[in-house]
Amino acid sequence: MTQRLIELLLLIALASAWGLQHGSAGWAVAGALAGAVLWTLLDGLRARRLLRWLNKADTSQSPKFSGVWAELFNRSKKVIKNLERKIDSSNVRLANFLAAIQASPNGVILLDATGRIEWVNLTAAHQLGLDPQKDVGQYIQNLVRSPVFKDYFLGSDFSNAILIGGIGARPSVPSRISVQIHPYGHKRKLMLSQDVTAVELADTMRRDFVANVSHEIRTPLTVLSGFVETLQNIPVTETDRNLYLGMMSQQAQRMQMLVSDLLTLSRLEGSPAPGPGDWLNTDDLLSPAVQETRALSSVIAQPPHEITQVTDAVFCVSGNKSELHSAMSNLLSNAVRYTPPGGSIRTGWLLRPDGGAEFFVEDSGPGIAAEHLPRLTERFYRVDRSRSRESGGTGLGLAIVKHVAQRHGGQLEVKSTMGKGSTFSIVLPPSRVQPINPP
Ligand code: ADP
Repeated sequence: MTQRLIELLLLIALASAWGLQHGSAGWAVAGALAGAVLWTLLDGLRARRLLRWLNKADTSQSPKFSGVWAELFNRSKKVIKNLERKIDSSNVRLANFLAAIQASPNGVILLDATGRIEWVNLTAAHQLGLDPQKDVGQYIQNLVRSPVFKDYFLGSDFSNAILIGGIGARPSVPSRISVQIHPYGHKRKLMLSQDVTAVELADTMRRDFVANVSHEIRTPLTVLSGFVETLQNIPVTETDRNLYLGMMSQQAQRMQMLVSDLLTLSRLEGSPAPGPGDWLNTDDLLSPAVQETRALSSVIAQPPHEITQVTDAVFCVSGNKSELHSAMSNLLSNAVRYTPPGGSIRTGWLLRPDGGAEFFVEDSGPGIAAEHLPRLTERFYRVDRSRSRESGGTGLGLAIVKHVAQRHGGQLEVKSTMGKGSTFSIVLPPSRVQPINPP
């Protein structure tokens, strides 16, 4: 400040001295005034330079100033640099924050007070068919076309989530997205979306499963309680009594088989897959299963089936003996139950060209139409419901076989020709196959 005053006084003194030299006292006053005006002009120019620099706020440029202007310039530069540092660190934090929301498995959309998209993460864009760049600034209700969503968005009750069909949802490819809006700030909205297709499917499957089990158990239970009531209330002959007891025992057996298959399935689902430790001779697996099959055939088929045990190759497979036995028995008993009496059944273990192995059961039964094949391993799915029940089927056999195959790293394959017969195979990968007497 003192410097500016000295500068001003010096300029006035110089100008008035110059005035005195060139005329009277009046010239001196005029010179002093001219000096003051000149100083004001010079000062104004410096102020303008500083303002121009402040407008650009470019801290990389350093125009030269002196005196109080240099101090003003330096302080402004410091303040601007501090602000720049703060903005940089806020930008980094914002970028990290957005990257975290981007990585979220849930969809996140930020809407302004008018319902226009401000920001959308990739998950939400994918679930709702939005473009994370081009759709910014668009009204959400114009892009998410579901009427359920429109009603929800235009209403004011956001206390619950709604369910809408995801992009490309079709009856064969279901896709369900849960959407909930959370208002915040001044009429702004945070919209969260979540793909609940798997949860919905699991829920439907659980409901279907409970309904199916109840249905399967209700029939034998009704029969059983009917006979119990009859035996309790009506006098019956010894022959009828034995007949009823026979039927009751049949229904009790049916329920026992159902419960046993359900327990097997839940054990298969709830236990770790068998390791590759136990090596089993394929002949040791096959022979007892074939013996049981012959026994079953002689009981339920007249004349019994012609059962051929193929023993071209004997080797070892690794896995759980009782699981493999249960899967093989299921396929063999199906062949016996669905092939008319006297029909032929061939079964055995084969080596596959890729080094894997296959247990096959080939029958000369009625065959299965192609449209049923993809659904055969669904629980309680039957092509012919009454035939399955008559022959003591639970509708869970092939579900068990598929599970066992998958737990051993393999799969269940089915080939069938209507009127000619079917071939069911459990295919195991090469890692589970060894020649006889492994090291
Ligand atoms: P189920 O206890 O009813 O036999 P599965 O799961 O073992 O149940 O089989 C499902 C359905 O597949 C059966 O109900 C039957 O319709 C069909 N199926 C299974 N094996 C054969 C076969 N060898 N020949 C013809 N149909 C079969």
